[in-house]
Amino acid sequence: MKFVVGNWKMNGSREILREMIRQIDGLRPENRVVLCVPFTLLGEKSTNIAFGAQDVSSHERGAYTGEVSATMLSEAGAKYVIVGHSERRMYHDETNDIVREKAMRALESGITPIICVGETMDEKRAGKTIDVITSMVRESLPTNVRDDIIIAYEPRWAIGAGITPTADEIAGAHRVIADTLSYMGLDGTPILYGASVNAANVGDIVAIRNVDGVLVGGASLKPEEFIPIIQSVK
Ligand code: PEP
Repeated sequence: MKFVVGNWKMNGSREILREMIRQIDGLRPENRVVLCVPFTLLGEKSTNIAFGAQDVSSHERGAYTGEVSATMLSEAGAKYVIVGHSERRMYHDETNDIVREKAMRALESGITPIICVGETMDEKRAGKTIDVITSMVRESLPTNVRDDIIIAYEPRWAIGAGITPTADEIAGAHRVIADTLSYMGLDGTPILYGASVNAANVGDIVAIRNVDGVLVGGASLKPEEFIPIIQSVK
């Protein structure tokens, strides 16, 4: 079963979320639908959607004003959490070490981390895509895990840009990630593609080898854009 994961970033409201739930609960999705919403919107119930957060503290508890722990997320109903999104890496200086710590905290609380990796345009132009994503996968994943984790390949230059890599570029990146995971003993870990996914391109993207679903930003905010994506992913 493939994944369709929405990342609402700092958008949405409870009213918009309830309408999204109402419409998606009226479907019969053939995939696993996850919505990663702002912390304050966790706690809603849905038959067809599992909820996730977009970040988690790398600390278990304590004097970390403004942070939210994995146990708190779990208590609020989160089953998934995005860690290492490029916006966190870029605006909050999150390193692979921090991302790995966050993923550990999530796993300890029974939450599946969706660990994001992807190259910048400068790295792509310099021919470093393979090296960058290989080291991101190796360094951002907790060691000795056999638990549930998900990887999202998100080329940073394509996020929110309305452009997607070619099918060959996506296939190449996903093959490198699959090989790296296999080397780490993590065969079978789902690998999602994210960046500028929409209803028009999603069918072609999920048909690519080693693509186990999609992570959708902008197009996950409105039912009329998100539902056609869900319906196109088989
Ligand atoms: C994202 O930021 O995770 C993302 C996939 O964004 P978009 O779909 O808007 O490119």
